[in-house]
Amino acid sequence: MSVAFHGAKYCWMNGEVVETKDALVSAMEPIHLGIFEGIKAYVEGDILGRSRLNIFRWKPHIDRLWRSAAVCGLKIPYTKDDLLEATMKAIRQNGFETNVYIQPRIWPRAEAPESVHVVIPVWTFDTLLGKENARFSRQRRFMISSWRRIASDALPPQSKTWANYANCALALREATRLHYDGAVFLDNRGFVSEGTGACIMTVRHGRVVTPPVSASILESVTRETLLEILPDDLGIPVEVRDITRMELYASDEAFLCGTGWEITPITSVDDIVLGEDYPGAVTKRAAEYYAEILAGRIEKHKNWLTSVP
Ligand code: PMP
Repeated sequence: MSVAFHGAKYCWMNGEVVETKDALVSAMEPIHLGIFEGIKAYVEGDILGRSRLNIFRWKPHIDRLWRSAAVCGLKIPYTKDDLLEATMKAIRQNGFETNVYIQPRIWPRAEAPESVHVVIPVWTFDTLLGKENARFSRQRRFMISSWRRIASDALPPQSKTWANYANCALALREATRLHYDGAVFLDNRGFVSEGTGACIMTVRHGRVVTPPVSASILESVTRETLLEILPDDLGIPVEVRDITRMELYASDEAFLCGTGWEITPITSVDDIVLGEDYPGAVTKRAAEYYAEILAGRIEKHKNWLTSVP
């Protein structure tokens, strides 16, 4: 499966807003050392029909970018607030009035590897969430990848390092070749790890179970969010522990969660259909409530939203 990155007309690059087509670098850049973040801003409508954009959970995303930089030895020559301001500038310059995906990218400069390029491309996306969204319920056949998720003593899965995504691309390529919609990784111990760019949650007997960080997963902001809101707001018990392949097959429901994948239900794994209802009740409830939070309709979680003035 090919991944198309549709940058918008403008992005922010090394201190200024530029046209994305002019955000050019040397062909000799050490791209294998790059890191990035994936953040989304959602539209919030008010009762007067006006809308504004809110960035969802800026802080944990930008903190993770700093951790990714630290492990890769990259020094970011801006503050976290500078990058928030830069992100807002890029969004405003494009004049977006719809949902926006934000992908800060950082990598060493070819001519001076001790300094870095910082680029913030942005583009619009269609959400999978929302009560009337038929795409949410589309059938999705997944397979267990024959590729294991990268072991944390080889590459750090807890950092968003581009190199980690070659592992994901191979798994997706295999899934596409075998006519599946997506892949789930096992970790190097053989336990369920994550998807190709999203974490996985399973549901069994009304409990949500998800693998621990030590199962070679990214410390996902969406996963953290769900681990908080499922028990506290929806009364759904959660458990963080290793999941065996057989347990995944025996789940009543399973879904992927992440900024990009939002909440994406899974119909089957290795052609074993999960549960009786698709999407399952817990998956649907979680997705509906998550969408409410993103749209700014849950008062107690408005502090997770940073509005773009
Ligand atoms: N795992 C991987 C490998 C990812 O790339 C992502 C997307 N950032 C996730 C999990 C989900 O993380 P988050 O909820 O922070 O987007």
